[in-house]
Amino acid sequence: MMQQAVADYFARFGVPMEVVSFVDRPIGHFIDGRETVATADRIDLVEPFTRSRLTGVVNGTAADVDMAVASARGALAGPWGKMSALDRQKLILRLAAAMETDADVLAHLEAIGVGKAISDARLIDVPGSIANLEYFAGWTSKLDGRTTNAVALPGESFTYTIKEPVGVVAAIVPWNFPLQILSWKLAAALACGCTVVCKPSELTPLSAMRLAHLASKVGFPDGVINVVNGYGHVIGQALASHRGIDKLSFTGSTRVGTSVGKTALETMKRLTLELGGKSPVIVTGKADLDIAASAILVGIFMNSGQVCDAGSRVYADASIHEELLARLRTGAEDMPIGAGLDPNSKITPLVSSAHRSSVLQHIDAAHAEGAVLVTGEGSGGGGREDGILQPTIFDQCSEKMGIFREEIFGPVLGVSRVNTLDDAVERANSSIYGLAAAIYSDSVDETIALSRRLKAGNIYINAHGLVDPTMPFGGLGASGFGKDMGPEQLDGFLSTKSVYVQLNR
Ligand code: NAD
Repeated sequence: MMQQAVADYFARFGVPMEVVSFVDRPIGHFIDGRETVATADRIDLVEPFTRSRLTGVVNGTAADVDMAVASARGALAGPWGKMSALDRQKLILRLAAAMETDADVLAHLEAIGVGKAISDARLIDVPGSIANLEYFAGWTSKLDGRTTNAVALPGESFTYTIKEPVGVVAAIVPWNFPLQILSWKLAAALACGCTVVCKPSELTPLSAMRLAHLASKVGFPDGVINVVNGYGHVIGQALASHRGIDKLSFTGSTRVGTSVGKTALETMKRLTLELGGKSPVIVTGKADLDIAASAILVGIFMNSGQVCDAGSRVYADASIHEELLARLRTGAEDMPIGAGLDPNSKITPLVSSAHRSSVLQHIDAAHAEGAVLVTGEGSGGGGREDGILQPTIFDQCSEKMGIFREEIFGPVLGVSRVNTLDDAVERANSSIYGLAAAIYSDSVDETIALSRRLKAGNIYINAHGLVDPTMPFGGLGASGFGKDMGPEQLDGFLSTKSVYVQLNR
């Protein structure tokens, strides 16, 4: 049963009964076409705004992973494996349509689980997830190999390649965009004919469970989409080491990704790692400051800063530094703060008390290391009861400080003045990460030149955090390797087989 504080919170914002009944019950696994609770052991799910218990989610074990993998392997050999590409496409589109009908429930589950702004969940998370399925549905029928003209074989031959699904995919996802990041992996894996065992974060299992139920309702065969819940070090680890998994697609922190990746390689899994970031933002003397300030604020404070490619360190040309800072301060102070379910909120609670404490420690360190507070949380701050941190901006930051080196994953922006573009590029590229970078300038020459020099997988020009299913997303260096989305993602879920036919023997 949910605690009274959560029930009152739901009543205050008129949460639909369908949402209440979906969350106010023990949450199990979704294995082999049905929800199962294999053990009575539960992990408490805490609602981020009230910091009160929402419900319990099954604390899964390696035996649950075994069951899910067996089901996924069975489905590969069953009707799913035999289904024509066009029928697979229809099923994926049916799932997208079911999500469209269920959009309001899904948006509520994201706002409730993550604590995020429901306006963002409605505008970004849910439509973005649907678009991804719709885009990849079209790829089911275009996964062709090629015929080749052999150049060094004796006699006559016929040579060609074929593409086959890689097999069973483990999709391990984080808590900041639970539905959208799951859809990044699921859509392409399904399009390629794989089956999937999903492992949501133990903090945010709700939308993945809803998605699995929807998939079953629209006719996905049992075992094609499984969800196993529980702690990362148990379920994630069991998936990474499981011999029945062919491909691991992981999104999460660099620390966990490094360890999961090593484990996956011990059993020679195909591997994609989408990891952390510390993305730089360069604002040149030729930038439109209205555009730059508003996009920088979105780029760092969206989802309360809990975004992998958040633009968290700004290098501002000396000629516009003061003016930009003034705009950033005003914009940050005007941001509506409140409950995730309040449609007017933009800055909402962080996902958990533990994560909020970690962000506060970074803020305290920034104060102690000499960064100058422009607006937001003072040192020893964070006295609110509701899990929220104010949008916080520091100036005079440098790479010697943690605020310019470490991923904070909260509403904290660092700014520094630069005198030349060369200096900006050198400092921007000094990070171990390489997920994204943003450039603000009205000069085409300047933006194209900078985009070539910056070390990052995603470059945003006069904007931040744009995502489109056609565009591959992924990083360099400590931000990982492999891509989600775009046609580039497909190869991660396909094996290429080379066939040689000797003719006229
Ligand atoms: P995390 O690494 O703690 O957890 C990610 C997932 O891994 C969760 O499902 C978790 O349960 C699981 N996990 C945890 N420990 C594990 C272990 N020992 N073995 C196997 N699995 C384990 O990350 P998080 O706190 O959920 O998410 C925040 C991080 O994710 C940030 O670093 C952020 O930058 C990153 N992220 C990256 C991208 C991207 O596309 N590059 C997108 C979103 C988030």
